[in-house]
Amino acid sequence: MSGLHFLLVPLVAQGHIIPMVDLARLLAARGARVTVVTTPVNAARNSAVVGSARRAGLDVELAEIAFPGPELGLPEGAENLDMVDEEHDLAFFQAVWKMDAPLEEYVRSLPRRPDCLVADACNPWTAALCARHGIPRLVLHCPSAYFLLATHNLSTHGVYGRVADELETFEVPDFPVRAVGNKATFRGFFQWPHKESFQRDVAEAEATADGLLINTFRDIEGVFVDRYAAALGRKTWAIGPTCASGLDDADAKAGRGNRADVDADLVVSWLDARPPSSVLYISFGSIAHLAAKELIQLAGGLEASRRPFVWAIKEARSDADVQAWLAEGFENRVKDRGLLIRGWAPLVTILSHAAVGGFLTHCGWNATLEAIVHGVPALTWPNFSDQFSSERLLVDVLNIGVRSGVKVPAMSLPEEAEGVQVTSAEVEKAVAELMDEGPARTARRARAREIAAKAKAAMEEGGSSYADLTDMIHHVAELSRKN
Ligand code: UDP
Repeated sequence: MSGLHFLLVPLVAQGHIIPMVDLARLLAARGARVTVVTTPVNAARNSAVVGSARRAGLDVELAEIAFPGPELGLPEGAENLDMVDEEHDLAFFQAVWKMDAPLEEYVRSLPRRPDCLVADACNPWTAALCARHGIPRLVLHCPSAYFLLATHNLSTHGVYGRVADELETFEVPDFPVRAVGNKATFRGFFQWPHKESFQRDVAEAEATADGLLINTFRDIEGVFVDRYAAALGRKTWAIGPTCASGLDDADAKAGRGNRADVDADLVVSWLDARPPSSVLYISFGSIAHLAAKELIQLAGGLEASRRPFVWAIKEARSDADVQAWLAEGFENRVKDRGLLIRGWAPLVTILSHAAVGGFLTHCGWNATLEAIVHGVPALTWPNFSDQFSSERLLVDVLNIGVRSGVKVPAMSLPEEAEGVQVTSAEVEKAVAELMDEGPARTARRARAREIAAKAKAAMEEGGSSYADLTDMIHHVAELSRKN
């Protein structure tokens, strides 16, 4: 296997770069040479993690290509989805599609053709380039197989086209488990007006790929993976959870995706002083932002719960209303038991600490896998897209989550709801349900630990994801030999 050179091209969004960098480490650990190709800002954000992998002897490097954002009116340096506002969202993806020119230039500059390019599913523009250069191409999916299969079936059975509006309830057809929802909670990533061509490109590039990778593992999603592979007729490997790798590297753990806006050692000392499994950790990932009124309800519930918590509150940096509310004294009132992190948190460092006993999560697929790997039961608060599917998987399929009560994305709410779906009393009740000692909590924690052990075993030699990655590397070696 050594001697193979992989180019990895992640979508420039945290939930996509982080698992791709994990994959780079995993491939390099098998003896491959791996180059993660991304833009300067994203390369800088990930240079510490990649540097640490190199020091550990892995042949991983970052290569920079320009981001064409400014050509489309984006501010200079806005190179990651977490740096653009709603107004610039479409231009951002148009710029992503234009990355083919700088990538082409980069590939031409290489002394030897790479053996394989792994592109994020949201980077279908790599397909033509790979075809031109005869480079085998694999597609990496970053959401769950549950979500991929559900949205695929809804689309092929014509359900999306049949519903009267986005809140009409339906059951997902031909699905391994009962799954009920609506278009608002089963919306595909590019299923928005003006993004239809992106969606078509994604489907076409997937249908012509040399294989598909899904960041999941067979113990929890085997049936969804197999059905999806059969539906697409492509070779498919379940190679995750990628976040279970590299956990012995404290710096890499603390600097995933970006440098944390807090000293990880301080957070660890704070957690060291709390009893095991007593702390609730709260994070909404890199993109989802709560409106000030939602956030104030959440804060009220946390205050009333009287439990220790760590809250990654990125809105404290971006939202003037939240800043004004914070200035009124919440932090001071909870100072003995609440730690606020304003901005990027060392999420895996926190989740892997023994003091953390619950995770209030927006259910991004990476956060979901991180909760699973560390055996931390979840309080689910999905915001959009595949997050509602991760919630269903956590609560209905795996039985390791408690719902907060969010029903639909905030943008789908009727106006009279004024954007609030979970009141402070409901937050307090849900936190108690998740964290109060009793038979339900004991059983949930036992299940979470059992699944965590399976997740780690899947990634170790002899495990299903380890074997899938081996098979994928053999497949690439064979394609390369034929080339
Ligand atoms: N993350 C982090 N610190 C933060 C927020 C997020 O390290 O303060 C990481 C998180 O661990 C996960 C990724 O960013 O690996 C976010 O991906 P996810 O799929 O959970 O959600 P998204 O941000 O794409 O909505």
